[in-house]
Amino acid sequence: MLVKRGYGTLRDNIPALNFLPRILGKPKHREAKGREGREEGLREAISERVESTTHVLIVGGGIGGIYTALNLIREGVNPHGITVVADEWPPYSRHRLPEALKCGYLGGLELGVAKELVDAGVNVVSPARVVGVDPVSREVIIQYVGKGEEVSYDCLVVATGGKPFIPPIPGIGLRGVTTFYRLNDVRRLLSLRGGSAVVVGGGLVGVAAAISLRRRGLRVALIELKRSLLPQVIDPPLSEPLRKYLTGVEGIKLFLGSRVKKLLGSGRVTAVLTDSGTLSADAVVFATGVRPNSELLLRAGASNVRGAITVDGWGRTSLAGVYALGDCALSKDYITGRATYRPLGFVAAHYAKYVAKAIAGTASGEGTPGVIPTIYERLGEARVYRLGLSASEARSLGLSDAEVEVIKSGDNVWEARILAKGRIVGWELVTIGHEHVIPTATYLKQLLPPKP
Ligand SMILES: Cc1cc2nc3c(=O)[nH]c(=O)nc-3n(C[C@H](O)[C@H](O)[C@H](O)COP(=O)(O)OP(=O)(O)OC[C@H]3O[C@@H](n4cnc5c(N)ncnc54)[C@H](O)[C@@H]3O)c2cc1C
Repeated sequence: MLVKRGYGTLRDNIPALNFLPRILGKPKHREAKGREGREEGLREAISERVESTTHVLIVGGGIGGIYTALNLIREGVNPHGITVVADEWPPYSRHRLPEALKCGYLGGLELGVAKELVDAGVNVVSPARVVGVDPVSREVIIQYVGKGEEVSYDCLVVATGGKPFIPPIPGIGLRGVTTFYRLNDVRRLLSLRGGSAVVVGGGLVGVAAAISLRRRGLRVALIELKRSLLPQVIDPPLSEPLRKYLTGVEGIKLFLGSRVKKLLGSGRVTAVLTDSGTLSADAVVFATGVRPNSELLLRAGASNVRGAITVDGWGRTSLAGVYALGDCALSKDYITGRATYRPLGFVAAHYAKYVAKAIAGTASGEGTPGVIPTIYERLGEARVYRLGLSASEARSLGLSDAEVEVIKSGDNVWEARILAKGRIVGWELVTIGHEHVIPTATYLKQLLPPKP
């Protein structure tokens, strides 16, 4: 009997054999463990078959996977023909992890739309992992606890996200060293009772984690390799007030332009050796970026750039019938039209619309014109906003003359325009202590090219 547990569609014992045929509606279903199992699976496949024109298999239950499923339904695809294979469920918002750490409360992180999908009839296979893809026979291998199965698909959507990057530094295996990426990382940090923490990485994730740890009463030091904070989000003239706020108001010790050389301790970390000195540490948090979690498609032969899967404007990979989006894939920048790696939730959500249209057959034209970065982040009492490109990102995307023009500086509001090739390519805004109305629509009009 098919049962629903929580959000997931699970059988009482091992979920795989019984309900996958129902999910996929296709008789081509084999258990990887012998003939008897195969025949049983086939019988069930036929008896429980649900008719559906397209069988879309989505790997990954994060923003990319969930929003693709949602958009597929909006585009008219039968929910019973959609399967999400997720190694964790229900999905949660990573961007709310700092808040969860600050409050010490992990409830309320779930992505609400996940329940909508299950209610609509989308089949969720979890906990399970896709461990192999055969793009020629259009089959994947799904791994459950203790066994694997081969399952066919018509369209495969790979939204396997990223994996946190930790630089190869001696001592990273010590207890007390963590990333800041998953619920379990937050759980680990919540078990700390006072003491000191060193955060490595001064991007959005590192700064947010540092503030949350500080609010939990820890002494916090933050080390950043570059000479300014949030180097991938805003340019130095706007990150300077943030630096003053973090040191002055939040009481975080900042070491900018510094490098971690070694973690010290015996069994458990006790200190961090940097080129600015030795810092004591009961915990070390690495927030040093994300790399694409794309091995599945790399092994299947998909085109990529440094591991990020190459896609067209509809999220199509170089493999027929296979799409990729989110932190495992490249995306197109709106302003320069260039492919870039931006592991951010709004990029995954943007591509989910285009992937869904392509699969549903409602696509026309060349797909997405590209993503306009839109970042809005609360960091304690500071607000950081960016629309379009920073000067540093613009330069990395080929706009070599990109420069920052500060247009407001005072009353706890700092605002800048980013200019390149004689036009505005972005805005940055930092406020401390109060909200600031952001005229996004006006800004967007100036970024978008005039209609012909
Ligand atoms: C602390 C933090 C704060 C952030 N804040 C922001 C923010 O403010 N704004 C913003 O835009 N972005 C933010 N991000 C980035 C954002 O969370 C990611 O860009 C987004 O989650 C990417 O979505 P995704 O679907 O590609 O990957 P994920 O959300 O990572 O989902 C991928 C899922 O696939 C699963 N999976 C992987 N491999 C398999 C497999 N083989 N089989 C089955 N399942 C698999 C993974 O376990 C994971 O659950 C933040 C990230 C962090 C860590």
